[in-house]
Amino acid sequence: MTKPYADREIWFFTGSQDLYGPETLEQVAAQSQEVARTLDVAADVPARIVWKPVLKDSNSIRRAMLDANSNDAVLGVITWMHTFSPAKMWITGLDLLRKPLLHLHTQAGMELPWDTIDMDFMNLNQAAHGDREYAYIAARLGVARTTVAGHVTNPAVQKRVGTWIRGAAGWDATHGLKLCRFGDNMRNVAVTEGDKTEAELRFGVSVNTWGVNELVAAVAAVAETQVDALVAEYESLYDVAPELRQHGERHESLRYAARQEIALESFLTSVGAKAFTTNFEDLGDLRQLPGLAVQRLMAKGYGFGAEGDWKTAVLVRAAKVMGVGLPGGASLMEDYTYDLTPGSELILGAHMLEICPTLTTAKPRIEIHPLGIGGKEDPVRMVFDADPKQGAVVVSLADMRDRFRLTANVVDTVPPTAPLPNLPVARAVWKPRPDFATSAECWLTAGGAHHTAMTTAVGIEAFEIFAELARIELLVIDENTTRRGFADQVRWNAAYHRLAQGL
Ligand code: MN
Repeated sequence: MTKPYADREIWFFTGSQDLYGPETLEQVAAQSQEVARTLDVAADVPARIVWKPVLKDSNSIRRAMLDANSNDAVLGVITWMHTFSPAKMWITGLDLLRKPLLHLHTQAGMELPWDTIDMDFMNLNQAAHGDREYAYIAARLGVARTTVAGHVTNPAVQKRVGTWIRGAAGWDATHGLKLCRFGDNMRNVAVTEGDKTEAELRFGVSVNTWGVNELVAAVAAVAETQVDALVAEYESLYDVAPELRQHGERHESLRYAARQEIALESFLTSVGAKAFTTNFEDLGDLRQLPGLAVQRLMAKGYGFGAEGDWKTAVLVRAAKVMGVGLPGGASLMEDYTYDLTPGSELILGAHMLEICPTLTTAKPRIEIHPLGIGGKEDPVRMVFDADPKQGAVVVSLADMRDRFRLTANVVDTVPPTAPLPNLPVARAVWKPRPDFATSAECWLTAGGAHHTAMTTAVGIEAFEIFAELARIELLVIDENTTRRGFADQVRWNAAYHRLAQGL
């Protein structure tokens, strides 16, 4: 089976020391290879696990960490202290490490051999205290890390290691990410603003603007034969409205949407961008607000934010990468309107046009309708209902002046209560956890944005890992959230994040 991140590696480091002698160290090497191999073949582990020779002294640990830092194939490193590895040996290496770190707390065998256990067994299988010595120094140094405990054959352990790799892959995806903005933010909007310089430090993303005229020129340069081919693809993949089909009276509008998709993708490729924003207030000579084109590009893995919202575009891109190979998808989303029936409140999420079709397994319809804003021609868009999913996540990124804050809500997407025959946009309907009032009141307390990234592919744990790695704030609203506890967390976080960044 090909792994979702087939060309990426996780290096597996085993800690020990020379004190044990060659015979024990050979056993440590053989058993740690077996642990690494078990993870490598696990279906829930989405990258290759590469075993490295046992580390026994400070200099080899330093060298191993520097090699991991400098190797672009490496997504992260796993460390495990099979035996006792005096942790001063780890100070220099851990201090230098810049890749995501998982501390695996395990033991080679699952059951204790109660009948035969002797001091040789005890001296070989010392992770119970070796990992405590190691974790002390990691904690003292303040190393960002995820700790996973349990036997390596345990599916729960494999799943958590897999989720950590996905979180690390999201973090990796925003590093080196180029984000292309066509125009600036929607005028006067507050929450879509932010510190692009700080974002490059925290997330590694480079956010820059291109004049929309460059996109207009790229649209004009698309060849008719390219448009023919893409329109044929639309008609084979989607349920295209008759008026938009070949020989339909509005077919030219579909051709223009195809032209926008081709131009956008070639322009983004030419500048090396995997995420982008548009703004309906700044379309220049574009005839339509790009709707179908944006939906198609999101489905191809591009991050996107509307109204110049580059922060949400970063999140959508990260969510896309974290969810590679899993059922479900990720999209820009916006909390749009409510059903406030007491006890069965629902949120209807959508956008003007730009919801990603990876949220549905049904065949989307392609339709054309007026937009009623922006003064352009009617835009073409895909229309569908998002699939039901327990434990989906909506997450927003806001600039709180002295730090970035992720606010996330674990939600259950559900089918619409009734068909929506007059709603001409793609949409998702969800029940927020723990309940509507607690969710909405906490979200508003946190100042979470109206734009979010919605993912139905990965759960909240991947974002916890992402936030830990980026060293930013994450406020989670889920089944355990209470108003009082959440308000306290918001207050305490303000103090923590100011103290944590020092003077
Ligand atoms: Mn919006």
